[in-house]
Amino acid sequence: MDAQLAVKRDALTPAAERLAPCRRLLVLTGAGASADAGIPTFRGAGGVWRSHRPEDLASPDGFARNPELVWEWYRERRVQVARAQPHPGQRALALLARHFPAAEVLVATTNEDDLLERAGVAEVVHLHGSLFSTRCAGACGWEQAVDRDSELSRRSCPGCGAAVRPGSTWYGEPLPEAELERVLSFRADGCLLIGSSVLVAPVSNIPAEMALAGLPVVEVNCAETPFTSVATVSLRGPARDILPALVDLLTSPTVRDQRRRTAEG
Ligand code: NAD
Repeated sequence: MDAQLAVKRDALTPAAERLAPCRRLLVLTGAGASADAGIPTFRGAGGVWRSHRPEDLASPDGFARNPELVWEWYRERRVQVARAQPHPGQRALALLARHFPAAEVLVATTNEDDLLERAGVAEVVHLHGSLFSTRCAGACGWEQAVDRDSELSRRSCPGCGAAVRPGSTWYGEPLPEAELERVLSFRADGCLLIGSSVLVAPVSNIPAEMALAGLPVVEVNCAETPFTSVATVSLRGPARDILPALVDLLTSPTVRDQRRRTAEG
């Protein structure tokens, strides 16, 4: 085993030990969780789209200023995601959701892509909406899943004739109520936080409040974040490498025994 992998394994065990006793594990993923599938993050290297800041495009003001530019950006990202394949770390999360012994796992994401669904995660709570949804930019409430077809983006709203816009939740907009409620009412007692810079509120408050309450929060990120100092354990490296090994441990017989002993004692 090379030295780097040995270090990683040393860090993985305490992380697995802290998450193993959880009964309601929240898996929360940010843009970094899809980076290994070739989907760029907004803030990291290679994350800049032309010369625009995402806040200037993914916002109601940005859309009002230049709707065609915003649509061009969204169509490009739809195609990029449609061409991508889930990476092994995302497939590992599907295994965890199914096989984490005697516990419930809820997978929530701020990502707008559908890679976790395609990796096999049965329920994914999208806290920032979906890249593959188009809705009325006016007030009539029309919305449609577009299944990678961007044709609707070139038409007017069939409900009221207003312009249509991407269905994502933009900067400055409230989170979808039902999705946020699904996460809050889950009452997680542990969190696996993957590839998030923990900068975009209110989702960033969820792991922060859990850590403050003394609940285990394990961070997986290839760089240090503002959350690292409060994380129970911080695992440094790409999600593609860390998650399969961590999920292996969490679904292992040793961890099953540890859970059983915790439940009995
Ligand atoms: P973010 O704030 O969640 O930051 C990305 C984080 O991922 C950084 O901390 C970075 O160090 C980490 N990271 C990068 N590559 C990684 C890897 N291979 N493994 C583990 N960690 C890795 O994301 P953002 O890019 O600033 O975007 C903010 C918001 O924009 C998101 O919450 C989302 O709504 C949207 N967004 C979505 C997608 C998507 O759907 N895939 C992509 C970009 C942005």
